[in-house]
Amino acid sequence: MEAVSFDTRQNLIGGEWREPLGRETMPLLNPSDGTRLAEIARSDAGDIDRAVAAAQEARRGAWGRMTATERGRLLSIMSRIVLERADELARLEALDVGKPLRQAKADALALARYLEFYAGAADKLHGDTIPYLDGYTVLTIYEPLGVTGHIVPWNYPMQIIGRSVTASLAMGNAVVIKPAEEACLTALAYARIAEEAGFPAGAINIVSGTGEEAGAALAAHPGINHISFTGSVVVGGLVQAAAAKNAVPVTLELGGKSPQIVFADADLDAALPFLVNAGIQNAGQTCSAASRILVQRSVHDRVLAAMAERYSALRVGTAMSDLDMGPLVSGRQQEIVQGYLDAARQDGLEIAAQGRIGAEAPSGGYYVPPTLVSGAQGSSRLAQEEIFGPVQVVIPFEDEAEALRLANGTDYGLVAGVWTADGSRALRMARGIETGQVFVNNYGAGGGVELPFGGVKRSGHGREKGFEALYSFASLKTIAIRHG
Ligand code: NAD
Repeated sequence: MEAVSFDTRQNLIGGEWREPLGRETMPLLNPSDGTRLAEIARSDAGDIDRAVAAAQEARRGAWGRMTATERGRLLSIMSRIVLERADELARLEALDVGKPLRQAKADALALARYLEFYAGAADKLHGDTIPYLDGYTVLTIYEPLGVTGHIVPWNYPMQIIGRSVTASLAMGNAVVIKPAEEACLTALAYARIAEEAGFPAGAINIVSGTGEEAGAALAAHPGINHISFTGSVVVGGLVQAAAAKNAVPVTLELGGKSPQIVFADADLDAALPFLVNAGIQNAGQTCSAASRILVQRSVHDRVLAAMAERYSALRVGTAMSDLDMGPLVSGRQQEIVQGYLDAARQDGLEIAAQGRIGAEAPSGGYYVPPTLVSGAQGSSRLAQEEIFGPVQVVIPFEDEAEALRLANGTDYGLVAGVWTADGSRALRMARGIETGQVFVNNYGAGGGVELPFGGVKRSGHGREKGFEALYSFASLKTIAIRHG
């Protein structure tokens, strides 16, 4: 089987791989040991201009003329290629992001599943007829928006491109992708595989560069018709403000401080692996990480002890050594998380347990130990701010009312988990929690491909994933016909 091959210093614009206009590059580092993996393009506003123009051209050309069924077929071919190359894609993602190989493999399989899902969905979104005045027939149809921009973070490049770009393509939009400067290899591979699957020139354009240059230029571009942004709250605000100047709609998938809430009647053995995994997966660099574990007081010490035991057994090493956890993505991220651990100690919180960074972790890598913290108040900094690292705080509560108050007591609202054997309580909690997703007696950290996903409050707005995503990338037209 052939390898996915592309030149990391180039962008794909209008069906051609080219260096950026300024011919500048920047290094891409391997988080596992700090060495240089590749040079990538450092593009600017001029490259974004060219990519948007190429996307507009594709909409007027072969891509715009394709039927929904034909678009679905191309996505289906892509999904087969992704499945065939899943090991290779997983290796790229693991090297680039630092996540253990088997987690990267799960991401590659999720990408294939997104492609499969939206391949099938491409020709399923249809409008209505609406009863109206006598002598009229009114119908609605869903049309593509035109050109959609996608600004992607480094933590799950395959999954995030899978859910946002793929849904937009299914609807018939042409896309411009700006991947993250910390990790962009599988984003480039996605574009290469799309070419191979037979997508017409300009349907998919990818422009690498920094957020301040290429990202800001894409968000402010008057030629796009929608922008989908996943990343930090601060940058999400900048993107929304820039897009607002052109009245361009925005989907924002931002951060979280998601709780898992454990009631005393829950099956604690079943809950335990979900509680820990949702904190350390991808070294906690997951927007839907369960960074707060709220536990009913009567079982608090038992749950804390069981979690601590698991934490003490966790092993950290390079992505390729495929242990429980890899490094963080960058030195900057490592400093931020280290800062929170220092703050925890200064604030008198207890480090209940930490995992072990072993000989498998080279000194140049960006490692921090997975850390379980107890003794925090709901109002503590560690219980309020998104750390984006492998740190979970365990907080006791008395009753349902307090659990709900704590759960809703942050600026975020992305995901929550409720563990209880009482079905009515599970429903009351699920209805009362201010989030976009609630899992009962499981924790899907972002949920499956089929499940609509997105936040409330500072976690963002708009929904991606599932069938729902198609509406975000479509424009509804009403046609009213007077026929007498
Ligand atoms: P970030 O916001 O700094 O970067 C995300 C993307 O935005 C990158 O591609 C970056 O180049 C680009 N960018 C940066 N500055 C920009 C600007 N001024 N204009 C336009 N684009 C710009 O975020 P990060 O530090 O890379 O990622 C971590 C954050 O992302 C966390 O807060 C996390 O919660 C959030 N996140 C959320 C989700 C979700 O689905 N809700 C998923 C992953 C990450």
